[in-house]
Amino acid sequence: MTFEELGLKSEVLKSLKDMGFEAPTPIQEKAIPHLLGAHSDFVGLAQTGTGKTAAFGLPLLNNVENHAKIPQGLVICPTRELCLQIAKDLENYAKYLKVSVVAVYGGTDIRKQMTDIKRGASIIVATPGRLMDLIKRKALVLSEIEYVVLDEADEMLNMGFKEDIDAILETTPEDKNVWLFSATMPAEVARIAKTYMTDPLEVSIGHKNQSNENIDHIYYVVKEKDRYAAVKRLIDFNPDIYGLIFCRTRQETGSVAEKLAKEGYSAEPLHGDLSQAQRDRVMDRFRNKDIQILVATDVAARGLDIDNITHVINYNLPDDIENYTHRSGRTARAGRKGESLVLINTRENGKIKAIERQMRTTFTLGSVPNAEEICEIQLMKLINKVTKADVREKEIEKFMPTIMAEFESLSKEEVIKHFVSTEFNRFIEYYERAGDLNASASRGDDRDDRPGRRDRRDNEQESGKTRFFVSIGKRDGLNPGGLLRLICDASNLNSSNIGRIDIMTSYSFFDADNEYADNILKTVNGAEYEGHQVSIEITKAKSSGGGGRSGGAPRRDGRSFGGKFQGGGDRGRRDDRGPRRDDRSPRRDDRGSRPEGGFRRDSGSRDDRPRRDDRGPRTEGGFKREGGSKDDRPRRTSTGNPFGNPFGKK
Ligand code: AMP
Repeated sequence: MTFEELGLKSEVLKSLKDMGFEAPTPIQEKAIPHLLGAHSDFVGLAQTGTGKTAAFGLPLLNNVENHAKIPQGLVICPTRELCLQIAKDLENYAKYLKVSVVAVYGGTDIRKQMTDIKRGASIIVATPGRLMDLIKRKALVLSEIEYVVLDEADEMLNMGFKEDIDAILETTPEDKNVWLFSATMPAEVARIAKTYMTDPLEVSIGHKNQSNENIDHIYYVVKEKDRYAAVKRLIDFNPDIYGLIFCRTRQETGSVAEKLAKEGYSAEPLHGDLSQAQRDRVMDRFRNKDIQILVATDVAARGLDIDNITHVINYNLPDDIENYTHRSGRTARAGRKGESLVLINTRENGKIKAIERQMRTTFTLGSVPNAEEICEIQLMKLINKVTKADVREKEIEKFMPTIMAEFESLSKEEVIKHFVSTEFNRFIEYYERAGDLNASASRGDDRDDRPGRRDRRDNEQESGKTRFFVSIGKRDGLNPGGLLRLICDASNLNSSNIGRIDIMTSYSFFDADNEYADNILKTVNGAEYEGHQVSIEITKAKSSGGGGRSGGAPRRDGRSFGGKFQGGGDRGRRDDRGPRRDDRSPRRDDRGSRPEGGFRRDSGSRDDRPRRDDRGPRTEGGFKREGGSKDDRPRRTSTGNPFGNPFGKK
């Protein structure tokens, strides 16, 4: 189906072309022809990320008259952020029309908005509270309203706007069309549909409360006291994270964000204690990727409309299961993949089951990564960063004699060790005494049998195998079968020579028999997977005996794995407080003099991934999107934390 076939005006089609929309999404395909009709009451059960804004926005713009000065369309949504986003989308779609869109929302000067309305508005996009205020002040003429759109109706009702919505719907003309969009269908939303609509078309994209299938839901069982330490490990293990951490209260939000920021992560809080201006600033910084991790309450994050969030971390579960749908729906938008990670304590297993039932989805039991795994990830990033660094031959040439003289007494191996150690020691120092954070659930009777369980015991590296790091992962569309095919096609081996495969978000690992390691290294390196050039490296070779382990998923059995990273029990508790800035991590003022792109703790940025398309110039101090970059992955700033991954605060 094409947009042309849906019956939209040529001006609207032209703007869609400009925006690069090639084909309608399922909700658009179903909604638009109906909404273009004369009697078009409508209920759309669709989550954010499905294209629902265009599903109502395009027919709305199509239907209202050009040059209308009295509003014909009214879009009501729960938050200021969503309000601004919808208005912006509508303006984009209205590029070739003579339709004016005015956004009205709380927390800002009402007089300016009144002036904007007076100047003439075809469509008003509003939050319920401010809209009521304007109606009471008689600043809005609603007699010509033909279309009322209720976007995220369930959220508006959750937020206590029931009376306002009823009042608005009562005030608007009887023969208007009502278009209602909601991610879930609680009884109150159904009541609105019943009261204010006649024979509405109902369209459901997915099950009523079903989660987006592009989201992996993973839960981790930890002791209450280990929640914060576990979150840090999840971040360290996903250095490319562009994520939202949800907390239940403002205090917790503030405290988690503050602790993360103090430890050098690029994290900031978003909650109701902040002024509107502060919230705007934080949102903008997050949207612009100047902040890597936003720590938010449910209410504050409502309406946060960002397409490329890679992870949602639930610091704890929300009280209301429906809020989990909203939280997890902040990732995996617009067809992308995402992960929703949940930390539960040993008594909360039942809650996971309840969410699984309600959302008709399955959670995977994850293991909080342990020291070796995190160090391995960080080290491989660092090495990739170094090997893929652009060497500015001309500029560096004049320093080379001095540099060579300084290193004269060291062998190549020693030089490499020294360079890597300048970064790597920090991870080791922090993690070498860190214990296993995984706890057993008290009702964990079925844990071991759950399909898809990420078990560290499965994860032991077999003897006689070599472990490889692969530069692409889930995000690049890789799956275990795809990786197996890639390796076998390139190396002429068969799958029995390949062992465990772990596909991570941005990288992967696999084991292969030692005897084939050289062949694999030579043949698979440089191969292409769906347009991505693949590079692989050996992370470690095993000649005999077990005991090695993968970098994919840590084990849960608490066994230590020998060597430097050994630890467990009580010692882990102390160390999870993290290294102190003053004695372990470099001080901020020391960092300024370091050359950008050198051996900084740069190992964590997405663009450090060994991808060729990704080596453009960087903005110092930001992880801004670069024009022409293949995707929207965050760019790095300098980091203050000792693990090299998250982006430093500015
Ligand atoms: P929404 O569910 O309205 O928040 O939309 C999610 C994202 O998908 C937004 O960034 C839209 O610009 C984008 N989008 C909506 N419809 C289409 C389409 N037909 N083709 C491509 N992108 C779309």
